Amino acid sequence: MRTLLISDLHLEDQRPDITRAFFYLLDQFQGAVERLFILGDFFEIWLGDDALTPTAQQVAARLQQFGDAGCSVFIMRGNRDFLLGEQFAEKCGAKLIDEPYFVELAGRQCLLMHGDSLCTDDKLYMDFRKMVRNPAWQKEFLSKPLDERIAFGKQARNQSQEDAKDKTYEILDVNQDEVLNVFREHRVPLFIHGHTHRPDRHQINIDKSNYERIVLGDWHRQGWYLIADEAELELRSFEFPG
Ligand code: MN
Repeated sequence: MRTLLISDLHLEDQRPDITRAFFYLLDQFQGAVERLFILGDFFEIWLGDDALTPTAQQVAARLQQFGDAGCSVFIMRGNRDFLLGEQFAEKCGAKLIDEPYFVELAGRQCLLMHGDSLCTDDKLYMDFRKMVRNPAWQKEFLSKPLDERIAFGKQARNQSQEDAKDKTYEILDVNQDEVLNVFREHRVPLFIHGHTHRPDRHQINIDKSNYERIVLGDWHRQGWYLIADEAELELRSFEFPG
């Protein structure tokens, strides 16, 4: 079984180059992988399944096709597209999954997350997360007229850019204690997430056992994916097609 994992594409109408690069990746793997995991921030912003952008429509149709060629598609929400719902997942022929999600990859038990919950040093963000992940808040937000939702989205984006000016490089990365907590709590040898935009493979030794944390890359300037078969995992990047 071959599995493809991606995250942090941040798809939006203003960046057709990212959508093209995503379709280029799907073209290469169509019929050649049995599972595709999208680990959050698939879209730059999500205002509700009833407010699909042209990009979202195209992506749903293309994913549906990709799935029909013999692949199970799984979508996890990130901190930007946390409102993505069942209705859109269904349109993609995908299954919506929650974190933490467990799967076997390359013969190892593996834990999948988006990664924002690891950034506990970012107090401002953790407060925001608590608010918007509350089901009651989400229900109320999704019942607002679309123009109000758009206004909120813009404001949240500006606020997060404003706040980011005061945050150091370390604050925006994962908190190492939180990473250890995750390994200790779930007891898995492998942990994969995105969010930080710092693609890498980290080997960690805890209580004399070896663990690995793989961080997927974002698609701002190039594409990133992790490909796994029964024996191996490989983190790869590629240039956007011209
Ligand atoms: Mn994120």
